[in-house]
Amino acid sequence: MEKRKQYDNKIILPRTEEHELPKGKLGLVFCGDCNAVYYKKSWHNNLRDYKNFREDLPVKFSVCPACAMIKNKQFEGEIIISNIPANIEESLIHLIETFGRRAEQNDGQHRVIAVKKIKSGLIVTTTENQLAVKIAKKIKDTFKKVEMKISYSPKPSDVVYVKMGFK
Ligand SMILES: [Zn+2]
Repeated sequence: MEKRKQYDNKIILPRTEEHELPKGKLGLVFCGDCNAVYYKKSWHNNLRDYKNFREDLPVKFSVCPACAMIKNKQFEGEIIISNIPANIEESLIHLIETFGRRAEQNDGQHRVIAVKKIKSGLIVTTTENQLAVKIAKKIKDTFKKVEMKISYSPKPSDVVYVKMGFK
């Protein structure tokens, strides 16, 4: 396997361990950073889908997995895009950010963490591996002349690395 290139702003690390669910599964857990709320065994953007909401439920504050990942400078998906034609760079960034916002509205745990400019192009990091794959496919569908290589890190890690290059 090809050795990954070192880059200067290497402050974001691949995620290495599963995030534990908060203890105390009864009641609600709010993320103190993004207001996500944990109930019925998963994190939600709000309480809208909570049918049997009772006001006497115990409430706890914690940090949701996505916020924890960002705090720990980790990621689950990374896209490195190189050889970007200057005239499309702006629309490419716009596409990535829009896609990320939509994903996050749909599931607050699926986020684009950062879109960083580097010498050779862009590095995009996400909190969820399939989000990175979907963004990469969207880029390929939109701009056509792009090569794409997807590689997963060995188990138990589920970090995905996507390399893209404009032809
Ligand atoms: Zn959060």
